[in-house]
Amino acid sequence: MSRRLREKYEDVDLTPGQGKGSATVSIFFGAMALLGALCFLMPELLTMPEFRAAYNPEVLRYALQVSIAISAGFGLYAMARHESPGYGLTGMILALTAALLASGRIEAPDIDSRGLYVGLDYFVLTLVVLALVFIPLERAFPKDRQQSILRKGWITDLKYFMLSHMGVQLISFFTVIPIQVFLHSVTTWDFQLWIASQPLWLQFIEILLVVDLGTYWIHRAMHEVPALWKFHAIHHSTEQMNWLASSRLHLLEILVNRFAGYLPIFVLGFAPSAVYAYLIFISFHAIFIHANVRFRFPVLRWILATPEYHHWHHSSEDAAIDRNYAGFLPIYDVLFRTAYLPKHLASRYGTVSDDIPEGIVGQFWYPFRSWGKGRSRQ
Ligand SMILES: [Zn+2]
Ligand SMILES: [Zn+2]
Repeated sequence: MSRRLREKYEDVDLTPGQGKGSATVSIFFGAMALLGALCFLMPELLTMPEFRAAYNPEVLRYALQVSIAISAGFGLYAMARHESPGYGLTGMILALTAALLASGRIEAPDIDSRGLYVGLDYFVLTLVVLALVFIPLERAFPKDRQQSILRKGWITDLKYFMLSHMGVQLISFFTVIPIQVFLHSVTTWDFQLWIASQPLWLQFIEILLVVDLGTYWIHRAMHEVPALWKFHAIHHSTEQMNWLASSRLHLLEILVNRFAGYLPIFVLGFAPSAVYAYLIFISFHAIFIHANVRFRFPVLRWILATPEYHHWHHSSEDAAIDRNYAGFLPIYDVLFRTAYLPKHLASRYGTVSDDIPEGIVGQFWYPFRSWGKGRSRQ
């Protein structure tokens, strides 16, 4: 997307009464409905087998119709109120196209789940659920009141979100699959049976302790080894924090993080239900700690990483540089002397000396182009 278009769609003032909010709602639900309708039309190619097993298509078909109605209704209102009716019209066209597609064949056939697929259903459903949870939460309890929902950089972050969700099979291919293939070739160890036989809540806590220790050191290395920092600098390039900023990660960092997370989980042999509970919980938590919310959590802030805690990790203030590496358990930062949690909240974010491009393609090449140049964060 060109710089001019970026300027047009980023940092938009959504003050009520101008029709801009309604246009945004209309286009969002229209686009989601259209993608949802495509999932129903081509489930073999566009849906994720593991995810598909977890939801009810009948409920989703109903949700699709509701999305079409929301998009059309808000689109109509935006056409009347917005200074340029094109936005509302775009939402209505998306809704109409979704309605036309959805009126076709939408029965999910018996699917051979071993083929190649794109996790479009995973992308659409997660995005809708997270938007419905986090946008109202950030509006009701904002840390930065001036920040728009369509803040600077949201388009880039949405592309990262799309990449990590739609590319789920590709990411698994490089992370989960090699570990599973390796472990299948060795016999089950006794300690794995013992670990999997423990109560689920205990396994859940053990996964948190083990994975967070590993990711603490990987994260620290990403900051302190200059060549690795160039990859991780992409995550830190966001200057306005919100829930979507959690998605901004270089593709190689996504692969390294997932591999490092799954390795101890599979080697130690935790029970699948404990692993699923952990994955759902930690995915939601990772998004929450980036959210533009002002909650302080007086005691909990030293036990679990909160938005306040991780916002300091993203701060560009001197005292906060290379602090708060723990993703979930601040105890690791306390033990290894990297904790920083002053009385006030962080307010300035971003990298200190890296000049990182705004688009996802430029950001992908950035570490390779700047390898060997400069030090870590300072
Ligand atoms: Zn970091
Ligand atoms: Zn972060």
